Amino acid sequence: MAVPKRKTSPTKRGMRRSHQALVANAAVECKNCGELHRPHHVCPSCGHYDGRNVAGKTASA
Ligand SMILES: [Zn+2]
Repeated sequence: MAVPKRKTSPTKRGMRRSHQALVANAAVECKNCGELHRPHHVCPSCGHYDGRNVAGKTASA
């Protein structure tokens, strides 16, 4: 079994983890109901996309 020759230093470990930061999910306001939803996705609360109902849900407000 291959074994690392040296222990990873705190600097090297930090350099590797510098790319692991969490980023907030993108969200836009729904044109129909005003709820936040992912861009280019059907609104989960009212089922609208591009200004029209595509999910067959009953629109509220
Ligand atoms: Zn909506």
